[in-house]
Amino acid sequence: RPLIGVLALQGDVREHAAALEAGGADVITVRRQRELAEVDGLVLPGGESTTISRLLETFDLLDPLRARLAAGMPAYGSCAGLILLAEKALDARPDQHQLGALDVIVRRNAFGRQVDSFEEDLLVSGIDDGPVHAVFIRAPWVESCGPTVEVLARVPDTPAAGAAAGRIVAVRQGNVLATSFHPELTGDARVHRLFVDVVRGDRVRGRTTDS
Ligand code: GLN
Repeated sequence: RPLIGVLALQGDVREHAAALEAGGADVITVRRQRELAEVDGLVLPGGESTTISRLLETFDLLDPLRARLAAGMPAYGSCAGLILLAEKALDARPDQHQLGALDVIVRRNAFGRQVDSFEEDLLVSGIDDGPVHAVFIRAPWVESCGPTVEVLARVPDTPAAGAAAGRIVAVRQGNVLATSFHPELTGDARVHRLFVDVVRGDRVRGRTTDS
């Protein structure tokens, strides 16, 4: 089983850990550089991107995390995690750090400040056995993507979706996966399993190149 870290500075760390274990991974929480150095992949949970960005600095993790991402470590970001992984965030505080692991521009709190949460069934490419029930909580969306970014899901055109219809809410670029929504909250481990498979594929490739 691959060893996957959950960045444990803020957010629903336990729920992510449980979903990753259900998806076939061993899990540790990551708050220190030596923990970050050990993992085959990392989940960045939701929370508040400004706060997580500050805590990354406080815990001396910002540069080590950037370095591991630049070296190709698989990562999965949910909500605030998506915002942090992005190259650029609109409506973010000017001092917020971007990890730059995903060639996308995201918009924070994109569904509207008054819309605290919103739920919708989404078709996610790579998850072929039925829609994923997506819970959005003060969520960002992906405003635009670079050419090597694969769009995995968009908000469907339903009355509840309103002006959000068609917006990009799940993406993948190589080993980096991100969703606007929180799959860890619904007891459905399929998105986490998808990430575990990405991490496994990365390890196999790594072994092949090493030998
Ligand atoms: N609105 C939060 C932010 O901008 C993200 C919300 C979440 O992660 N659920 O960081």
